[in-house]
Amino acid sequence: MIFPIDEAVARLRKAALSWQVPIVDLIAAQTEDPFKVLAATILSARTKDEVTAAAARRLFARADNPEDLAKLSITELERLIYPVGFFRSKATYLAELPAALAQDFGGKVPETVEELIRLPGVGRKTANLVVAVAFKKPAICVDTHVHRIMNLWGYVKTETPLATEMALRAKLPEQYWLEINSLLVAFGQALCKPRFPHCDRCPLTDICPRLGIIPRKLPMKKELSADKPALRLVSWNVNGLRAVLDKGFLDAFRRLDADIFALQEIKAFPEQLPDAARSIPGYQAWWHPAKKKGYSGVAVFSRTEPLRVIYGLGREDFDSEGRALTLEFADFYFVAAYFPNAQDGLKRLAFKLEFNRAMLAHLNRLAAEKSVLLCGDLNVAHKEIDLANPKANVQNPGFSPEERAGFEEILQAGYADTFRLFHPEPQRYSWWSYRTAARQRNVGWRIDYFLVDAKSQGRVRAAEIHDEIHGSDHCPVSVDFV
Ligand code: SF4
Repeated sequence: MIFPIDEAVARLRKAALSWQVPIVDLIAAQTEDPFKVLAATILSARTKDEVTAAAARRLFARADNPEDLAKLSITELERLIYPVGFFRSKATYLAELPAALAQDFGGKVPETVEELIRLPGVGRKTANLVVAVAFKKPAICVDTHVHRIMNLWGYVKTETPLATEMALRAKLPEQYWLEINSLLVAFGQALCKPRFPHCDRCPLTDICPRLGIIPRKLPMKKELSADKPALRLVSWNVNGLRAVLDKGFLDAFRRLDADIFALQEIKAFPEQLPDAARSIPGYQAWWHPAKKKGYSGVAVFSRTEPLRVIYGLGREDFDSEGRALTLEFADFYFVAAYFPNAQDGLKRLAFKLEFNRAMLAHLNRLAAEKSVLLCGDLNVAHKEIDLANPKANVQNPGFSPEERAGFEEILQAGYADTFRLFHPEPQRYSWWSYRTAARQRNVGWRIDYFLVDAKSQGRVRAAEIHDEIHGSDHCPVSVDFV
């Protein structure tokens, strides 16, 4: 069978809207500066994107052009770029770069692969990437993802990345050359992973021959780790705990079988609740209601007693609204939060952004000690894929550029949106307006999340939206965490 490359690229372009843009493309898009693209590409080899991004930020703050780079010693460079992979060799290459550029290329970054590979630390892969990304000239950068995926598709049959590059030059339509690397790097990181790719939710599952791969076996909850069963963590904005009690809350609670269950918008003091909701067998509960009656408030139920509970963020204006509860366990912090709504006319936007910043500072303090999970109603849809009508809501609360940037800041600080680690697909929402039968028509927003700190992403084994559960205008979201 001939692999349908046009169809594959079209589907991946669509799915890519929800993937993280590779760091080198991001730098190119933000700066359009070949020198920065070249330096970032050198840093990025065998290094995770978040580490490259941080190292590039530190480096460019001191030297964002060859002249300033020439003023830095190798020791300074090592300190600035650590902990990127092979930081010592890369510091040496960067130190040699200004002289090499001056000597052969008049101080400018050259535009061809043949010229670029004469620079220190620049191999074919780096050179192709710089030509494609920085100069938008036809070049195919073949890294391990491109080499691996093109072979498992059967589109090429090659032994080495160089052979793949040559085969693709002969075969791949030129219109795809520039983007194929960033598309397949993002795809390889998000879904088609080198070990146990996520074929179960891949957009190419019906056209991919899967040559030589072992598909991921979907784990049952109890199988997630042989020695350590996964914890099921659930978060639900119930929009009034007393109201949802009459709509099957306790059944849903039992069905979700959570080890820790966070609630937002409880809109009640615990003493106003019936015993059935206040003390659920097998769980202890911690409550942080708002001072104002019938407003906001969070609570957490847990099967295991935490070591410590932190009420709020230490700021009266936020804490009087019952917006955050933190439970400390032996090897992770569980933070449950109800982020402020920016409100019509974005009247509370400043308050919300201030809350974002306070929450991020809180998360960073906790993450310095152990794993951190943040869950709750963050009251913001991240990308266009996360709501049904993005264009119509650009200036509306929950999708304003400022709120999306505030959310992005948390992600850029290293916290991952766990749902998107597993689900690239559109039309998955967690909130639907009560008006206009939005839920029946699935005209919704994804504004409820579990975020996890960068180092602990590997501990998240599944992330789900439970849109089959009704009772509130939000539905529960969950992760399985080992
Ligand atoms: S079906 Fe599996 S092997 Fe094929 S592209 Fe998708 S994730 Fe990769």
